[in-house]
Amino acid sequence: IIHTCAEVNVLYGPPPQHLLKEQSLGQYVFDALKSNCNQSSCMTDMSTGSVASYKDVLKITCQLATAVLRNGYKTNDVIAISGRNSINFLYPVIASFYAGLTVAPLNENYTERELQQLLNISTPKIVFCSIRTANKFVKIKEKCNSVEKIILLDDSEPLHGTEGLMSFISFESDANIVKTFQPVKCDWNDTVALIMSSSGTSGVPKNVMITQKNVIVTIENKKDPLLGVYHSLKPGDHAITFLPIFHAFGLITILKQITSGYHTLLMKQFEITLFLNTVQKYKVKCVYLNPTIVIALIKSQETNNFDISCLEEIYVGSSSLKENILQSALNKLKIKSIRQAYGMTESTMVLTFTPVNDFKIGSSGKLVPYLMGKIIDLNSKENLRAYETGELCFKGDVIMKGYLKNETATKEVIDKDGWLHTGDFGFYDNNGHFYIQGRLKEIIKYNGFQVSPIELEMLLLEHSKIKDAAVFGIPHETAEEVPAAFIVLQLNSSLSENEVKEFIASNVVYYKYLRGGVKFIKEIPKTLTGKFNKSDLSKLFLQMSKL
Ligand code: AMP
Repeated sequence: IIHTCAEVNVLYGPPPQHLLKEQSLGQYVFDALKSNCNQSSCMTDMSTGSVASYKDVLKITCQLATAVLRNGYKTNDVIAISGRNSINFLYPVIASFYAGLTVAPLNENYTERELQQLLNISTPKIVFCSIRTANKFVKIKEKCNSVEKIILLDDSEPLHGTEGLMSFISFESDANIVKTFQPVKCDWNDTVALIMSSSGTSGVPKNVMITQKNVIVTIENKKDPLLGVYHSLKPGDHAITFLPIFHAFGLITILKQITSGYHTLLMKQFEITLFLNTVQKYKVKCVYLNPTIVIALIKSQETNNFDISCLEEIYVGSSSLKENILQSALNKLKIKSIRQAYGMTESTMVLTFTPVNDFKIGSSGKLVPYLMGKIIDLNSKENLRAYETGELCFKGDVIMKGYLKNETATKEVIDKDGWLHTGDFGFYDNNGHFYIQGRLKEIIKYNGFQVSPIELEMLLLEHSKIKDAAVFGIPHETAEEVPAAFIVLQLNSSLSENEVKEFIASNVVYYKYLRGGVKFIKEIPKTLTGKFNKSDLSKLFLQMSKL
């Protein structure tokens, strides 16, 4: 599946190492798990110490897929999963792939309001959730007609209106289930494996459809000798994961690990002492981080208390790693190689990646296999040459199918020739190294999480005392950006900064809070076309803060 195109000034990722067999994602994962069945540990939950072997994972996922199919669910039905990183989170993901179902992972901290918006679009039939959030889903079920079952991921006693995972699969007690089970056949190009939430380029929350083929190609790209990862690992070796599994970055990373036979050390979230201790204890060689965590490791005294010299390579993605941070990481953490990744939810995961031994300061690497890339002029839309700055566009097998039930938004980002317009700008050099210089699009990135300014603006406008509102990011040393707002109050109304912040905090997940602050203003400056220029507003906000 090597693509070519007639356009000029288009770069190509290297040809794939081997041609991929067309198959369902369920079959791909099932075969990979089976071939690693002699490995004792597949995943260890670092907070509880519980371990699942490859045999356990195979058995439970086959039981779960059989139970789902027996209950009448079929290809293209959607299941939602909400929970923190845990071994049990992965079971419905894998079982859904076997059964040809679509998985919509959800951040468990979403508020009822956010969940309802997402579920009304993805219309899941089953929700798998933790006991912590079960009540939220029981309430939402009354408003979201699609939801038929709520299954608890924990072993706790089910609440009214829910059932437990183990009791749901308990009827599938055939001892030979792994031998007899057959994943459902489906079209890898057409079947949607994942629905991920993203704000895309225009900043409004959307549901990204990732196909089964997108996932397989992304996992296979990670085996490339130059652009792959974990080169020094063999089946049975340890790999650590704390990135949230409800985000593409964490989910695809863990799928790569378990389909490669590694032993995944799963952390609920990043916790510095546990992380350092785990790296030291298991002699972890390579790990995915984000810039915020690199900074935490450099700055924390804790880092000096552990021997992490086993770390050979770190992979950093999700936002740009500043040059001074990169140098400090090389010096202080004594890591031989730092490789940067650039990608987005709409591209399953990685678009460009630092090739082995080909590191360039400031660059996020070269195109991954199978991919085409170009830079276009912002006005003329013509393809630019090396060192010319414009919008980054990509085409290939990792690009999403589109936004669910939103053809207009899909057409805004994927043009008629199949190019994904990223909303990021930058350039490439003579050797094909890409340099990401900034974002044209509206999303704010807080600690690797997307914050949609439009979503917060709409919410603020629901407040009876607010006449107009603009939300934008202001730069932050460790979190990259923090959301801030300008507010115009209704005539004769009064509100304090704290009241506005609390209003937001009571309606949205924690990473969308207005940590950058709130300022009241008579009128928010707009462009001639009536829009806010977010970078001007951000500058104005900072100037006013200095006064
Ligand atoms: P997400 O869909 O949450 O993964 O966010 C994707 C966006 O994060 C991209 O479109 C970029 O704006 C930003 N991003 C991801 N990786 C990098 C990187 N290496 N350098 C700069 N920005 C990045």
